[in-house]
Amino acid sequence: MKDTHKHQGLRNQLVKTIIQKGITDKNVLDAIAKVPRHLFMDSGFVDFAYQDKAFPIAAEQTISQPYTVAFQSELLKAKSGDKILEIGTGSGYQAAVLIEMGVKVYTIERQQELFKKTKLFLPKIGYKPKKMIFGDGYLGLPEDAPFDGIIVTAGAPYVPKPLLSQLKIGGRLVIPVGDDIQIMTLFIRTGEKDFEKHELGEFRFVPLLKKKN
Ligand code: SAH
Repeated sequence: MKDTHKHQGLRNQLVKTIIQKGITDKNVLDAIAKVPRHLFMDSGFVDFAYQDKAFPIAAEQTISQPYTVAFQSELLKAKSGDKILEIGTGSGYQAAVLIEMGVKVYTIERQQELFKKTKLFLPKIGYKPKKMIFGDGYLGLPEDAPFDGIIVTAGAPYVPKPLLSQLKIGGRLVIPVGDDIQIMTLFIRTGEKDFEKHELGEFRFVPLLKKKN
């Protein structure tokens, strides 16, 4: 499938919707306007690719809602050249948005099926993460730490300690915390042992599960 003027028009519309919902970061909006989300969806859902909704992908997982991707990306405050760890590669859409922003993306997925699919797919459409790992995101990625930011794209029942300790001083962890409903939570590392915590509203994610599958 190709990316056409029609798709570009639908993306511009989507960006307007996201602006109305409160997203202001121009780098994030520009990235959403560029990434061809329809290519990340299963064939049955491509017609809905530019609706501001989450949709099913393989292995009972979902591609996050564009507004949620934008909201988390804005909270990360990622700049071009930053080193960012993503937990929950899924379809690769969030990773592509960050790569479009100039970020060096390290991303971890625990579902073998999705991992394999997305590892082939992303480079094929021109998005190359620095590293794609089949592993358990609860552990972070100690060998490549510290990171400027860490983004968790599944609902975490609690905040995994390794993720906090793998942040640079000044680094940001964006993580939805909770069981059925999650509170989007931002941690900013202000010192070796000090973190600022902000809670930013309710979201719903598929669960962050332990171990590889
Ligand atoms: N960022 C993705 C969102 C996918 S949904 C996108 O843009 O499409 C969340 C993903 O987190 C799922 O693919 C799920 O398999 C993965 N996941 C769940 N628990 C995990 C864990 N412990 N480590 C890594 N990935 C995990």
